[in-house]
Amino acid sequence: MTATATTDLVTHYINGTWTTDWAGLTNELRNPATGQVTGRVALAGLDEVDRAVAAARAAFETYSHTTIADRVAMFSRIAAEFTRRAEDMAIAVTTDMGIPIAGSRIAVGAAILQFTSMIDTLPGYPFHDVAGDHIIDKDPVGVAALIPPWNYPSLQMAEKVAPALAAGCTVILKPAEIVSHAGEVFAQIMDAAGVPAGVFNLLVGKGSTVGTALSKHPGVDMVAFTGSTDVGIQVQKDAADTVKRVSQELGGKSAHIVLPDADLDLAVTTAVNGVMSNSGQTCAAPTRTLVPAPLLDDFLRRVKSAVDGLTVGDPMKEVDLGPVANQTQWHTVQDYIQIGLDEGATLITGGPGKPDPTASGWYVRPTVFADVTNNMRIAREEIFGPVMSVITYTGIDDAIRIANDSEYGLAGYVTGEDTDQAKRVAARIRAGQVVVNAVTPNLFAPFGGYKHSGNGRIWGTAGLEEYLETKAIVGQI
Ligand code: NAP
Ligand code: MG
Repeated sequence: MTATATTDLVTHYINGTWTTDWAGLTNELRNPATGQVTGRVALAGLDEVDRAVAAARAAFETYSHTTIADRVAMFSRIAAEFTRRAEDMAIAVTTDMGIPIAGSRIAVGAAILQFTSMIDTLPGYPFHDVAGDHIIDKDPVGVAALIPPWNYPSLQMAEKVAPALAAGCTVILKPAEIVSHAGEVFAQIMDAAGVPAGVFNLLVGKGSTVGTALSKHPGVDMVAFTGSTDVGIQVQKDAADTVKRVSQELGGKSAHIVLPDADLDLAVTTAVNGVMSNSGQTCAAPTRTLVPAPLLDDFLRRVKSAVDGLTVGDPMKEVDLGPVANQTQWHTVQDYIQIGLDEGATLITGGPGKPDPTASGWYVRPTVFADVTNNMRIAREEIFGPVMSVITYTGIDDAIRIANDSEYGLAGYVTGEDTDQAKRVAARIRAGQVVVNAVTPNLFAPFGGYKHSGNGRIWGTAGLEEYLETKAIVGQI
């Protein structure tokens, strides 16, 4: 941890000021690679929530009337400052939650892109449009509470803050507690970029107190939530009495259909990178790999060889996998590996325990199961760890049926040489973003869930529109 990037006590940034009068409870922050304490986080209470909401409400009165040129200029300053602080952010994230530093740097690049893409989008966006005999205006929703998770925190904070501010909303960001250092660097960037007081506020602390209070608060107009489906449902319920808009980006159990004509090298790369990167802590990970029976043996041989070649270790070094984010996550993943064994799936590689049993960090063995059926818990439930479930299918209709037989619908993947056929298969997958012959999602295209994977969209113009109200002006105009 560089001393300049983060402080020992992470606190709240409200109305353009870091709170120094705060004297409540703190929690320790720990580096999952070592178990070492890296600092403390102040736990916001209801008083801080009220102050942040009041600041955002007051700032909304002026900020919502700023011109597009003003916002573009502000976004240029944010992008420049974010670029200057990119390495501090990457280090803070890796220290907080253990993603290998190379992956953290890529995510920071994607985070900066959230601001630069709004610079491109804003000038052409029809905030004021004449549609036949009436006018359509797009107004900011108001004060938005932004509650992202911890798995790609730099991107997940930016993909909410950038469109919200672009729309003219003012915001209160509540990062996941374990990535509070990353939240602190984010607020430092906003402060240094001259975002006006009250337009951006940071509250650190617990989701169960701060998140709940924001979801229920009558002064908050919208909650943008990314996280687990269970918590997303609770947020929706907490927000119901005040009729807030709730945008949900929730969990996933995405299928990767390897078509019979697939280039197996590409299929293996997609499967292994998609499931194993960030130690499987990717909402859109293709955790169910659907393989046609004739290809199965060859596919499994290649997957085993690729997975056995992955390096697991200190995320500040050049490794493929760091630790999972914390002790709780480690035990959850261990439980699921045992569930897979108990359910009768065939362990191809990996398995229970740490790769190096003497390591103090929360490292997991990248694990592959074959002979998985789609009714097993390892095929139905989100594990959020480096665990691949390989399911065999008999024909394309069967593959699509299995892919769609899930309560989730976040992403899908299709690998096949005949691109037209691959696109036809993609069109039949009930999920918000389907990737053909690749593994990386497209940050300029809408992303979000069908079914229990949520109801909101992030990225691109669709992400901006989450934060806009539609007003019609009609009559004798
Ligand atoms: P989580 O436990 O649901 O927490 C998400 C966020 O909600 C955190 O900031 C958390 O704060 C906060 N929170 C917790 N309880 C709350 C409550 N009662 N009211 C309001 N906010 C509350 O999820 P996670 O463990 O951080 O992240 C993993 C999950 O996120 C996975 O299910 C994954 O699939 C999903 N995810 C989805 C997407 C997507 O785009 N669809 C992207 C990434 C991750 P604290 O952590 O401080 O308690
Ligand atoms: Mg959690």
